[in-house]
Amino acid sequence: MIKITLPDGSIKECAKQSTPMDIAKSISEGFARNVISAKFNDTIVETSTELTQDGSLLLYTWNDDLGKKAFWHSTAHVLAQAILFFHPNAKLTIGPAIEKGFYYDVDFGEDTISDNDFKKIEDKMLEFARQKFEFKLRSVSKADALSYYKDRNNEFKVELIENLTDGDITFCDHADFTDLCRGGHIPNTGIIKAIKLMSIAGAYWRGDEKKKQLTRVYGISFPKQKNLKEYLELLEEAKKRDHRKLGKELELFTFSKKVGQGLPLWLPKGAALRERLENFLKRAQKRAGYEMVMTPHIGQKELYVTSGHYAKYGEDSFQPIHTPKEDEEFLLKPMNCPHHCEIYNDKPYSYKDLPKRFAEFGTVYRYEQSGELHGLTRVRGFTQDDAHIFCTPEQLDQEFKEVIDLSLYVLSTLGLDNYTAQVSVRDMDNLDKYIGDSKLWDKAENAIINAAKDKGLDYVIESGEAAFYGPKLDFMVKDALGRTWQLGTIQVDYTLPERFDLTYKGSDNQLHRPVMIHRAPFGSMERFIALLLEHTGGNFPLWLTPDQAILLPISDKYKNYTEKVLQLLENHEIRSLLDDRSEKTGKKIRDAEVKKIPFMIIVGEQEESEGLISVRRHGGEDLGKMTVEAFSSLINKEISSTLKEFKFN
Ligand SMILES: [Zn+2]
Ligand SMILES: [Zn+2]
Repeated sequence: MIKITLPDGSIKECAKQSTPMDIAKSISEGFARNVISAKFNDTIVETSTELTQDGSLLLYTWNDDLGKKAFWHSTAHVLAQAILFFHPNAKLTIGPAIEKGFYYDVDFGEDTISDNDFKKIEDKMLEFARQKFEFKLRSVSKADALSYYKDRNNEFKVELIENLTDGDITFCDHADFTDLCRGGHIPNTGIIKAIKLMSIAGAYWRGDEKKKQLTRVYGISFPKQKNLKEYLELLEEAKKRDHRKLGKELELFTFSKKVGQGLPLWLPKGAALRERLENFLKRAQKRAGYEMVMTPHIGQKELYVTSGHYAKYGEDSFQPIHTPKEDEEFLLKPMNCPHHCEIYNDKPYSYKDLPKRFAEFGTVYRYEQSGELHGLTRVRGFTQDDAHIFCTPEQLDQEFKEVIDLSLYVLSTLGLDNYTAQVSVRDMDNLDKYIGDSKLWDKAENAIINAAKDKGLDYVIESGEAAFYGPKLDFMVKDALGRTWQLGTIQVDYTLPERFDLTYKGSDNQLHRPVMIHRAPFGSMERFIALLLEHTGGNFPLWLTPDQAILLPISDKYKNYTEKVLQLLENHEIRSLLDDRSEKTGKKIRDAEVKKIPFMIIVGEQEESEGLISVRRHGGEDLGKMTVEAFSSLINKEISSTLKEFKFN
C-alpha cells in the first residue's frame, strides 16, 4: 500500500500502482470524469501513471490552469497528427501549450500552408479527436529515440534528443502517431470537442534568427463548443476595446514616426485625462503623508553604476549622452530610485524623522526593440507614479499596510474590483541568491504576508519569485474581459540603501540603514490608461472622462439660447463640448456615442421657451427635461458615489 496526500490534507491508502485516475475515481466518479491532468510530488504526471511511492497528489480539471495546459498541449499533438496526414514530409519540431491555446512549429519543406487550409485541418483534428485515442507515455532509450527520428530525417528532433539524458527520454503515442514528449497529457483525445486554428507566423528554430525559419501554427481548443463561441466573442470584444483604436477615436494620444517609435504623444484630451488621474493620486498621497519631489530625466552614468541599474539596463539602454567639452557621460534614467536615494542623502535623518515618503510622477526611458513595441503597453518612454519610502525596519510592517490601503483605494475607485495579490518570497533552497541579512528578509517577508492577511487580501505566496534585493507584493487585476494585468507592485529593498550608503541615527545614537519601499499603484501612466481604456471600453468614470457633456442644438435658430446654456454649464464646471455643425440631430447623437461622451444635451424650441435642457445618457437612456442646476447636481451626485476621499488612518 502507498499513502497519497490530497490537497485538503487527507491521506488515502491505495494499492501500489494505483493511478491518479484510480484515486480520482475513489473520491467520486463524477469528479473523475472531469479530471484531465495530475501532479505528483511536484512533477506533472499522466492520469494513467502508476504511482509506486507515498506522496502528495494534485488532480486538475479544465478549470485549473494546469488542466488547460495539459488540454492544449495534448491538442498540439493532434494538430501535428493532422499536419502529417496532409503533409507527410513535414518535419515536426516543438508544440507547447501557451497562455491561450497552443502552437506547433513545423518545417513544411517544399509545402506551404495558409489560413485557407485551417478548416480542412480543424475538421481532420476533430475527426481524430472523436476516436478517443488514449495518450500513452512510454520510456525510450536515447539510441532508439535517435534512430526513430533519423529514419524520418527530422534533424530538429534529433537535436533535441541529443541534448537529453539517456533514461529521461519519453515518447507519447496516440493512434498511430508518435511524438517526442516529456508528458502532461489529458487521458484521451475524445475530451477535445472544439478546435480553432488562429494564425500562422514565421518562427526561427530555437528562436535564433541564424537558424532555419519554421512555420508556427497557432490554435486553441475547448472541452465544449460553447467555450469556443464565448472565446471568439471575447476576442471580438477585445478588438473593439483595443486601446490603440479607442485612443485614436477618443483623441487621447498619438505616435509620430518623426518623434520616434514607442514615444507616445498625449493629445489635449489625453493630457487632461492623465492630469486628472495624477491629481487624484496626488491628493490621496498627500493625505497619506507623501511629499512630492522632482528629478531630471538624465543622470550621470556613475549614478546608475552605483545603483546597479547600469549592469541591468546598461547594455540594452539608449546610448550615453556625451558632453565633449567636459567629457561627461549621462544616461536617460531607467528608474527614479537612484535620484530619490540622493534626495534622501541631502541631509542627515534621525529615527524620529522617518518614514520619509518621496513621490514623483517620474518619466523613465527603456530601450525596447521596435518589434516589441505595442501601443501604450510597451513603450520606450513612460511615466511611473513612483514613490520611495525610507523607514526603520520597525516601521516596515505599518508602512506596507498603508501602501496596500492606498493601492486598494486606487483599484476600487477605478472599478478594478477583481484582483488577487501575489507575494513573492525567497527560494529557501537557494538562499545565496539573495543579498542582505537573512533575519531582515524573514522580517520583511513576514511583514508582507501579515499585511496581506490583515487587509483580508486573497493572496498566493510564490517561492523563488522575489528579486535578489527584496520580497514584494503585486496585484493581479482582472479586467472586464477576464485578462490579467500585473499592477501596483510594492517592493521591499535592502540593496539600494546599502549601495547609496543611506543612514539614519537611531535612538541608540548609532547610524543604521533604513529600509526602502518602492511602490507605484498605477505602475506606469501609459499602461494604466491602456488598461482603463480596455477595461471600460472608453467609458471612463464621470470624474475622469475628458468631456462630460456635449451640447447638440437642433438648429442654429437657437444660437443665443445655446450660448446661454453653454455658459451655465461652464459656471457649474461641467466639462462640455458644442456640436454646432448643421447635421441632423440623429447623426450628431451617433457621433457623440462614438466619442463615449456620458451626456448629450439637446436644445430646441421647447427647451428654449421653458428655460430647460433635454438630457440623454450615453447608451440611449432619456432623462427628460431639467434645469442646468438639476443636471449639475445629478453629475455631482454620480461623481461623489464613485470618487471617495482617501481615508488615511
Ligand atoms: Zn506531449
Ligand atoms: Zn524604485
